[in-house]
Amino acid sequence: MASKRHRDPPSEIARRVQALEQVLVEKGLVDAAAIDRIVETYEHQVGPQNGARVVARAWSDPAYRERLLADGSSAIAEFGIQGMQGENMIVVENTPAVHNVVVCTLCSCYPWPVLGLPPTWYKSPPYRARIVREPRAVLREFGVELDADVEVRVWDSNAELRYMVLPRRPPGTEGLDEAALAELVTRDSMIGVALLGAPGAS
Ligand code: FE
Repeated sequence: MASKRHRDPPSEIARRVQALEQVLVEKGLVDAAAIDRIVETYEHQVGPQNGARVVARAWSDPAYRERLLADGSSAIAEFGIQGMQGENMIVVENTPAVHNVVVCTLCSCYPWPVLGLPPTWYKSPPYRARIVREPRAVLREFGVELDADVEVRVWDSNAELRYMVLPRRPPGTEGLDEAALAELVTRDSMIGVALLGAPGAS
């Protein structure tokens, strides 16, 4: 039973990717080791844990928060976090009066260096269309209930600019250090489709 998955033939897309990689390597256009390094990086080193460190610093250090909101790319680069799909970053801050949410209406532009690779729903046509037309309804489906007087701002990422949300610091976290705060920060809160509750609350 357990080996069934292993015996399944590779999917159409996996076979196409293998064939393409093989041709590129044979022609000397790419180095197989370089491809392995890129895959390794995105599997193990790049992910929402990077964005979480940035958020925790912003919550802990008011001067850093100001730098982050003024120039996201440079403030994020202070952590050594930078690279493909994250060259130009804008960080938008959630407040009691404003809730921000991020989309790419055209395709799936997403800030890879801070959040890793995008979730499937982020790339789906219904999310991309509906979050613009009816953001409150979509947010409610994600479990985000906003008061009527909260302004919702939807940010459309593109090839030049990538957005990340600075979520609100949860209540009951006054005594936590940066590392503990970073543990509380979720990927979805940095896209803007989740709020962060007090630690231990469900
Ligand atoms: Fe896109």
